[in-house]
Amino acid sequence: MKLSMVQWLQCPACAGSLTCQVGTQEGQEVREGALVCGGCRARYPIVRSVPRFVPGDGYVGNFSFEWTVHRTTQVDSQSGRSDSEDRFAQSLPFPLQYLKGKLVLDVGCGTGRFAEVVLKHGGTVMGVDLSFAVDSAFANMGGHPNMHIAQADIFKLPLKRDCFDLIYSLGVLHHTPDCRRAFEQLPKHLKPGGTVAITVYTNQNKFYVMSTNFWRTVTPKFPKRLLYVLCHAAIPLYYFNKIPMLRHIGLGLFPISMDPDWRWRVLDTYDCYSPVYQSYHSYPEVFAWFEAQELTRIRVVEPTVTVMGERPRIEARHGAD
Ligand SMILES: [Zn+2]
Repeated sequence: MKLSMVQWLQCPACAGSLTCQVGTQEGQEVREGALVCGGCRARYPIVRSVPRFVPGDGYVGNFSFEWTVHRTTQVDSQSGRSDSEDRFAQSLPFPLQYLKGKLVLDVGCGTGRFAEVVLKHGGTVMGVDLSFAVDSAFANMGGHPNMHIAQADIFKLPLKRDCFDLIYSLGVLHHTPDCRRAFEQLPKHLKPGGTVAITVYTNQNKFYVMSTNFWRTVTPKFPKRLLYVLCHAAIPLYYFNKIPMLRHIGLGLFPISMDPDWRWRVLDTYDCYSPVYQSYHSYPEVFAWFEAQELTRIRVVEPTVTVMGERPRIEARHGAD
């Protein structure tokens, strides 16, 4: 981690300020050391250049595995595709050029596929993830002077309030035990006038939800490597599902990713069947979450449930405040 990252951090236990004890340092990067709380004296180790605010990867061991195996698959600069930039652009209420000079929080950063887009357009990124994907994100982008990474739990974020111009979490919150409550952790970290954007799985296709939920009663309990090998069935099933007469039968019985690239297919299929938690939501439901947080200029993007809103510049006043 870079020492400059401390300015946005606070103790997740008591909100005390943190100071960095440097063990080993190379240039700007503190490789090993600890962050120590001035309030409760809690100590958070810095391991392999990443501060660790959790003792392990909790319920997301599948994502630690997935993003170690597929460290570069979805990173545009490595894949030669522009999926991450295209999807990110669709998830924002402003052009990517607006990111220049902005401070951005990436919640569930994974390997850093969207962080790379922010960096490319001149923003500074604070990426947090509960899984060991943080090590992949560091390998991919940790060397960038504007990239900061921490391993942390969304329900105990080690971050100060009122800091960020933009907070996004794309395809992540539905993998927590409580998607709405996870979203509710975010707006307080926005600067007034800042934007929050999330994407969660849609429940629009009831048959898809029913079918994946049926398989998922058992698949998250499979050993990770076994499930990953089984997900390679998506490679040939793709060609079966391309036959118009059989497509609905194939995808209805056993939904798989239909990405033309076989690596993305295996990755996205594993991504569907491996998580411990996976919830599906509707537009009105997520819109109401934004309204309840008193966000304004709320916008919805189709076809996924992508919703974005703005923290008011002048907070609504309440009688007791
Ligand atoms: Zn503390």
